[in-house]
Amino acid sequence: MTQSELSCESSAPAEPTGAFARRHIGASADEHRRMLTTVGYSSIDELMTAAIPAAIRWHGTLDLPAAATEAEAIAQLRALAEHNRPMVSMLGLGYHGTHTPAVIRRNVLESPAWYTAYTPYQPEISQGRLEALLNFQTVVADLTGLPIAGASLLDEATAAAEAMTLARRAGKAKSNVYVVDADALPQTIAVIATRAEPLGIEVRVVDLDREELPDEFFGLHLQYPGASGVVRDHTALVAAAHERGALVAVAADLLALCVLREPGAIGADIAVGSAQRFGVPMGFGGPHAGYMSVRAGLERMLPGRLVGVSRDADGAPAYRLALQTREQHIRREKATSNICTAQVLLAVIASMYAVYHGPDGLRAIAERAHAMATRLEAGLRLGGVPTDERPFFDTVLAEVSGRAAQVVAAAAERGINLRLVDADHVGISCDETTTDEHLRAVWAAFGVSEPVGELPHPRPEGPARASDYLTNPVFSEHRSETAMLRYLRRLSDKDYALDRGMIPLGSCTMKLNATTEMEPITWPEFADLHPFAPAEQAEGYRWLIADLERWLAEVTGYDAVSVQPNAGSQGELAGLLAIRGYHRDRGDDHRDVCLIPSSAHGTNAASAVMAGMRVVVVACDENGNVDLADLDRKIEQHRDRLAAIMVTYPSTHGVYETGIAQLCAKVHDAGGQVYVDGANLNALLGYAKPGRFGADVSHLNLHKTFCIPHGGGGPGVGPVAVRSHLSRFLPGHPFSTDKGAGPVSAAPHGSAGILPISWAYLRMMGPDGLSRATGAAVLAANYVAARLRDHYPVLYSGNSGLVAHECILDLRPITKTSGVTVDDVAKRLIDYGFHAPTMSFPVAGTLMVEPTESEDLAELDRFCDAMIAIRAEIDQVAAGEWPADDNPLVNAPHTASMVTADEWAHPYPRTLAAYPGQGDRSEKYWPPVRRIDGAYGDRNLVCACPSPEAFEE
Ligand SMILES: *Cc1c(COP(=O)(O)O)cnc(C)c1O
Repeated sequence: MTQSELSCESSAPAEPTGAFARRHIGASADEHRRMLTTVGYSSIDELMTAAIPAAIRWHGTLDLPAAATEAEAIAQLRALAEHNRPMVSMLGLGYHGTHTPAVIRRNVLESPAWYTAYTPYQPEISQGRLEALLNFQTVVADLTGLPIAGASLLDEATAAAEAMTLARRAGKAKSNVYVVDADALPQTIAVIATRAEPLGIEVRVVDLDREELPDEFFGLHLQYPGASGVVRDHTALVAAAHERGALVAVAADLLALCVLREPGAIGADIAVGSAQRFGVPMGFGGPHAGYMSVRAGLERMLPGRLVGVSRDADGAPAYRLALQTREQHIRREKATSNICTAQVLLAVIASMYAVYHGPDGLRAIAERAHAMATRLEAGLRLGGVPTDERPFFDTVLAEVSGRAAQVVAAAAERGINLRLVDADHVGISCDETTTDEHLRAVWAAFGVSEPVGELPHPRPEGPARASDYLTNPVFSEHRSETAMLRYLRRLSDKDYALDRGMIPLGSCTMKLNATTEMEPITWPEFADLHPFAPAEQAEGYRWLIADLERWLAEVTGYDAVSVQPNAGSQGELAGLLAIRGYHRDRGDDHRDVCLIPSSAHGTNAASAVMAGMRVVVVACDENGNVDLADLDRKIEQHRDRLAAIMVTYPSTHGVYETGIAQLCAKVHDAGGQVYVDGANLNALLGYAKPGRFGADVSHLNLHKTFCIPHGGGGPGVGPVAVRSHLSRFLPGHPFSTDKGAGPVSAAPHGSAGILPISWAYLRMMGPDGLSRATGAAVLAANYVAARLRDHYPVLYSGNSGLVAHECILDLRPITKTSGVTVDDVAKRLIDYGFHAPTMSFPVAGTLMVEPTESEDLAELDRFCDAMIAIRAEIDQVAAGEWPADDNPLVNAPHTASMVTADEWAHPYPRTLAAYPGQGDRSEKYWPPVRRIDGAYGDRNLVCACPSPEAFEE
């Protein structure tokens, strides 16, 4: 059955098609007419014809199913869901059954206050999620016994690959050999191999039970417990590695660490893993929070984001992102990794699972999983099935001499998936959800009768944990559901998310995440599937993914798509690896130069380095376009070694560059491939297709253009789309029959669990809706540019003076004359009830605004009015009416505590501080802290929950 067959039963729809698109697009037709008048065009079509270069304009109709209503889309998703058959999973391998506490599911995972938030770059309005992330870091640091943990990575396998590159940067050993435990998760070994090859790292998989360590290596990856379930004491191996100057990364199961000795206690340098089994559904592979923690001394090399404690203008403790100078936004090709979007929402869920259960509750869950496995094993042994003699935590390895497939099939008949290790071995993992009934079914599948009476406990235990964890009061104070509910509410109330107002972030497309799109992700048929479950149990997912890949290929003009990458950054890597594979396949091994315009997003350069390429920067001209003369020069200089150019279209300057077709041709003529960063696809859908205007490969960001919510900094999905000559080089996976290159994610389809969101968006918008959204987004950006142009210079524009879907406001001349900075304007916008635009990217000293199609005219005007009022305040500072160091801008944001204090010594009234603009005062959003001193926190790094005393006056 195909999707079209599924969809044919609908009779007359209850509402006209296109009704969803009308609700997704914020402004009405009448509002669009008024906006067009301001911009100076008579129709959106006329505007788009003027804005988009004729050379790339595509005039067809997208070959997508016509728009479904919300009810139809849900009905079709239900039909797809019914073709998934979630079974009891005892497959293990890094994915486990878990109960998401209902209070967390409904009030975090299903709550727009959490899932529509942006990355906490504006910490004053992000204190709630920053606190939750600090809790996450504390959970990881405590359980792994390593002091500094980051605020999430993309999954366990990519975290393990990041550990490898960290070990290489930090270690003293000269070797290029990375030793990997043969008992590591197979998908982890595969991702490590993908990531090692372009960097010239030799991965040596070693059976550490039987083989010696090589004489020289720079790092060692251990799995704890092993994929087989075996728990080993790695103390001697860690010491041996350290003797050779190598670093040791331990991939550890957080639940196991509640009872087993922690990696920090045996001297490990790095711990990595997944927080999935802390309440996050398996979701057919993701999204889940990967984690990494490190010993002291390595914190400045940690990949990804790190939350730290600092202080605000009153000296009160406040949270913000720490050590951001490590990241790609600043360090580009020298960054610690290319990670940008991570897994914030999932890290929040995992942290709340720990808050909900507390240390004793977690220990009880771990002990119960272990007890279940122990019972299971004893029953097997009593029934004559031999098992591995060594200690285990939750996973039993049974020997069945040639009968493995038969046992696995017998278990499947009873609704249980067991792991087929090889013809002679079956793996069985217990977890929080395992019941006696499951054990009985497993015994039956092995042909063993249920044991009676007390089971013997003859087996050895692994190294036991001797240290405490989660002693901070936050892990014991919210244990009743009432307390938990209020804690979640209190934190989300501190934050500004899309459910409060516009988040006009350039380059991030904070559009509507419709409730209908979100609904299916927590249905058990989508949430409770293990990524390596047999294919016939996941037919619904396969159809959904096939639809989505086909539709994404259609809208981008490419021939093949893989949804495996877990974020845009990973899509970039996958796309560049496809280019690398292509050149090498043709014997062009020497092609390793990647041209990147100076305006590019920081991930581009960082990804190119990870793909083994050398970054050569191409200049931009004074209009913000790629300087074609400089491009010619760089191509000439590197002609023989040219691998690729990586450009963003429309450019990160928010402009449709007219030279794009020429640029593609020049690079192709020199034998290079063209990578178009598709993060800005919101300006193109239905109007131009990168695969048709000369590009060979793109990644898309489903968490921007295709409505997956930002989650406060993740999840994301970064599909990679290619023309046919590159399709062989798309990522494959050891557990998938699809051929391809190595995997870039732990799961074959990456974060499959959130793909229904983008599927629903495309299904409900249909071809017309998508084009209309693009037109509305471009009109909104041009409307903002037109209204603000007289108050702030708009830095770049293209054809006819128009911008694309975003515009850059240049504060630099204003800063020069008034001393007021982008920071001051961003923080003052909080007083006006807004999230700030993107600051100082891609040009320092500017603000980039992307209104998206989802905001209505009233909200756009409220924003423009606020910006204009702020400009008048700046003029008052410039005129000397307020001192440069005491005015509403430098003191912003103003807290309730500040403006209601008995003393008020500032030269402007409290009402202006608190209630600027025309808004309803009763609806005021109050920031919980004053402006935060970021530098202080970097000098005094604290990355775990501070003790309660820190909050005393
Ligand atoms: C957001 C973005 C990226 C990175 O995507 P992530 O999902 O955050 O990794 C890359 N390029 C551009 C232009 C972007 O806007």
